Amino acid sequence: MLDCAASMPAQILDGKSLAAATRAALKHRVEALVQRGVRPGLTVIIAGDNPASKVYVRNKTLAAKEIGMRSELFEYNKDVSEAQILQRVAALNDNREVHGILVQLPLPRHIDSARVLESIAPAKDVDGFHQANLGALMAGRPGVVPCTPLGCMRLIEHAGMQIAGRHAVVIGRSNIVGKPLAMLLLQKDATVTICHSKTPSIEAITKQADILVAAVGRAKLVTARMVKPGACVIDVGINRLPDGKLAGDVDFDSVKEVAGWITPVPGGVGPMTIAMLLENCLNAAAGESAS
Ligand code: NAP
Repeated sequence: MLDCAASMPAQILDGKSLAAATRAALKHRVEALVQRGVRPGLTVIIAGDNPASKVYVRNKTLAAKEIGMRSELFEYNKDVSEAQILQRVAALNDNREVHGILVQLPLPRHIDSARVLESIAPAKDVDGFHQANLGALMAGRPGVVPCTPLGCMRLIEHAGMQIAGRHAVVIGRSNIVGKPLAMLLLQKDATVTICHSKTPSIEAITKQADILVAAVGRAKLVTARMVKPGACVIDVGINRLPDGKLAGDVDFDSVKEVAGWITPVPGGVGPMTIAMLLENCLNAAAGESAS
């Protein structure tokens, strides 16, 4: 087992190849389910014309098809009413061929996203955003775990990092990334600190982290001097730079000289998020829950 005091510069945690291996394994599971007469089905709902959302949705539906799942997309324009979306979700909840329902966020401003997410049957909530699933995670009960935090955990485990007893610092406290990831790390017996925009002297905290996760949405927020030598650094952020390139929340070039492990952006957490979505949907089809 590798320790966090690994040799420098950092080893790259290649989410792209781990995701490809995960999808290959899932494809076999899909085939086995199809032989039992169940084809796992994912349905995605998107509203409005956010270009990034359209790319994410296309990638998710394509990935589902590629492993043999049934995949369906409902696209609405930005003027769609909340009632129309709720009606669609209700119909999908009742459709036995649909095992996973994903509503791509953000929804247009006039729609109450929380109400829409709560309308999804928890067993089909493959994003794991329903309060029933977030509550189950909090209570350490079976449920659907949000995809990005689950993908982060798989990357940390893939590094061979010992988690128990280590100090994990998560920057960001959103319901979809920071908070659920902190819970997952806690379940694995890490000592967890959550930082956010009101945390003073953040550097003094991040420097103690054996596992450091940045889920903020600020390009290159995490610099080398904020990182403990040998730490495992997971970069969730996706930020568009003025030159059009993508950057994470971590200053990759400087941090890789200090960290033991580091995820790149792109090619780190992003592909694992999609792989975990497929896994959640497959588990839903198999009547299981992620753990
Ligand atoms: P979010 O809801 O905007 O939350 C951002 C969090 O960062 C908040 O808790 C905020 O604190 C905190 N924060 C903001 N500025 C900070 C600062 N200067 N220092 C410390 N903390 C700060 O974002 P999110 O949905 O969690 O997403 C975070 C990033 O991950 C985004 O770039 C998003 O695009 C990306 N993302 C990537 C994937 C993927 O698959 N790779 C999936 C989901 C999200 P407050 O709570 O105090 O405001």
